Amino acid sequence: MLTKKELDRYDRQIIMPGFGAVGQEKLKKAKVFIAGAGGLGSPAALYLAAAGIGTIRIADHDTVRLSNLNRQILYQEKDIGREKISSAAARLKKLNSNIIVETIGETITEANADRLVGDSDLIIDAMDNLPTRYLLNKTAIQKNIPFFHGAVYGFEGRAMTVIPGKSACLTCLYHGANVPAEKFPVIGTAPGVIGCIQATEVIKYLTGLGELLTGRLLNYDGLSMKFTEFKIKRDPGCAHCGRAPDR
Ligand SMILES: [Zn+2]
Repeated sequence: MLTKKELDRYDRQIIMPGFGAVGQEKLKKAKVFIAGAGGLGSPAALYLAAAGIGTIRIADHDTVRLSNLNRQILYQEKDIGREKISSAAARLKKLNSNIIVETIGETITEANADRLVGDSDLIIDAMDNLPTRYLLNKTAIQKNIPFFHGAVYGFEGRAMTVIPGKSACLTCLYHGANVPAEKFPVIGTAPGVIGCIQATEVIKYLTGLGELLTGRLLNYDGLSMKFTEFKIKRDPGCAHCGRAPDR
């Protein structure tokens, strides 16, 4: 049940056709796992906190640096040198004191991924490297929970939603290909756009509204200001979802 204060706070989304108090209660009951509290994790976490997601579980092992501030909008100058997750939790609680923020200061590895994601309802991929993205993709498939992929480079970004057993996964898309981890360019608005798309997808998934970004890779090019879509089919031989049962 929603309190009078909650009905007031979320009024503009509750009045949307098909959303209602029922939709808001679904957000309140949800626990989302955000892997990474950086450029993508910042807008995703802020908008999901603002929307009233009941529990946000956020993982990052880094500390805030000056060079993060062009894009990681969870942080301010006073946070430099602090653990990202503690600054992030404080910022999110300041925005919405009704939500629960769980923080994880560990690096996500093969050994701990299952435990760190725990009983979360879904995974948001806000990482900056492919090996951890693949690992989270695999973890989502094993747990049979959706995976919301997002990535940025320069003025560009990509997003895709994965429903295990139903739509193409990250490994169907990239077949385990990798690129060397290195410092890459990024303008802060690119993760702003993509992080918001990921948060939108999460809200749609939880409330059952609209059509998810499944089986489609959305490419955003900020310089030409074009959104392009590529159809992505499931790979029957996919190392991660090839043998997952159909739903
Ligand atoms: Zn797959």
